[in-house]
Amino acid sequence: MKLTSICIALICMFSIGACKKITASADVAANNTTDTVYTSDRTYNLNVVYFVPTDNPEIAGYQKRLSEILLRAQEFYESEMLRNGYSDKTFGLLKDADKGLVKIILIKGNLGKASYPYTGGSTAVMTEVTAYRSAHPDEFSSDHSLIILPAASYSSTGEPGGVPFYGTGKNCYALDYADFDLKYLGSSDTLGTRMTKWTGGMFHELGHGLNLPHNCAKQSERSNLGTALMGSGNLTYGLSPTFLTSADAAILSNNQVFNTGAATYYGSVTSAISRIHSSYNATTNAIIVSGRFTTNIPVTDILYYNDPDVNGEGTGANHDYNAVAWSTKVIGVDSFYVEMPVTDFQYKTTYDYQLKVKLVHNNGTVKETVYNYQFVNSQVVIDINTKDELSRTGWSVDSYSSQQTSAPATSLIDSNLSSSWHSQYSVAPAAVYPHYVTVNLGSVQTASGFIIGNGASRPVKTFDFLYSTDGVTYTLAGSYTLQKVTAKQAFYFTTPLNLKYFKILANSSWDGTQYAQLSDAGLFFD
Ligand code: ZN
Repeated sequence: MKLTSICIALICMFSIGACKKITASADVAANNTTDTVYTSDRTYNLNVVYFVPTDNPEIAGYQKRLSEILLRAQEFYESEMLRNGYSDKTFGLLKDADKGLVKIILIKGNLGKASYPYTGGSTAVMTEVTAYRSAHPDEFSSDHSLIILPAASYSSTGEPGGVPFYGTGKNCYALDYADFDLKYLGSSDTLGTRMTKWTGGMFHELGHGLNLPHNCAKQSERSNLGTALMGSGNLTYGLSPTFLTSADAAILSNNQVFNTGAATYYGSVTSAISRIHSSYNATTNAIIVSGRFTTNIPVTDILYYNDPDVNGEGTGANHDYNAVAWSTKVIGVDSFYVEMPVTDFQYKTTYDYQLKVKLVHNNGTVKETVYNYQFVNSQVVIDINTKDELSRTGWSVDSYSSQQTSAPATSLIDSNLSSSWHSQYSVAPAAVYPHYVTVNLGSVQTASGFIIGNGASRPVKTFDFLYSTDGVTYTLAGSYTLQKVTAKQAFYFTTPLNLKYFKILANSSWDGTQYAQLSDAGLFFD
């Protein structure tokens, strides 16, 4: 499931204050004149919607003003794709080039502006946009929509706000106000800095709506390229250099509305990192990551996001503005290799990092695997290394505490991280901790440790690993804490063990619920 990307940075700047006079649209509705013809060179185009509450009409001149801004956005994305090595690539728009107009779908909402607030308002808007789309399917031509609302409130200084302004999957939201006009962009006065904020903000949210997560500039990019749009470039666009990173460009290159054909986008993929190795090279002062993957849909690029946990911000969407990312092409058909100079990192004293390795498929789908490493006292501490696992031929599930029929205990040993064992939850009462699965290896084997793949939805936190040679008497090998990441995690026994059975006894969950989910369990010897 794709996480919702929300820019909370902007909300604090809003306040409901003195109203600013808004002129209702009295100008000629150029979109509606019969001689306006919108065309595009491609099948898929960004849907642009102007959504108007019953008590907050469209703002005068919006078609011309917003068209100019959208065309500027199209140019910005195109120039940044070109700089990143992709020629003639930007998002499609239906437009009348002669008139300089972009097709904007005007939707009259059923409710007042109070029903479409910043927090949660997107849900109410999307309900009506979806209904409108069902009734007017020909007006839409892709999975991606930018939805613009007239500002619902203004602060005492005239700052607009009060409407959704963030990305939710392939939809994103921006706002309009009377002075939202390119003629102000680049000026350092009030209207100019306001223009940067809401234009850069729109371009940034559009990035989310076009599949982009947050990431910031490398240290070596800051002096010549400036600020990454998907970092804090929403506050710099128009005033100082603002750019798209190579990771952004790799994702966009496979985006539905960045391509001219009628191919099918965003289908499911079956892919995984099959081997990964990491190291720190002291000579080059770089983190090196390499590996191989398997996939049923071609992969064009591999991305490496390094996301530090700064000031206990945590991980995930909205905690990733400071992630620094690299991109590489595939080596051969299934391999990858990257060197990431430590000098390009901003946070490198003592920090927990997530390494998110993303496979970018040519159908636009991005598959992410998350690993953990650290900086400790300015030293890189990284040990992300695939173990040589014992063959699972002859293995079977011996017993289990409970299972969900759709997520059986056998999924734990099927060597597929996409399937998982889940404790029973569909029939009341749902099973409670502790949960366990025991595995019969079929014969006594020797292992120096074991690997566990945690659940993506209901990850386990603490567990015991027990082993046996007769399936009757079990001995505790140790108690462990799993990380809340989707990659396999390796644990060593104190000394190598001979065992015919093992038992994973899960004792607690990361989310505090009674549910347990694990995707994989295996043994290794090295
Ligand atoms: Zn954002």
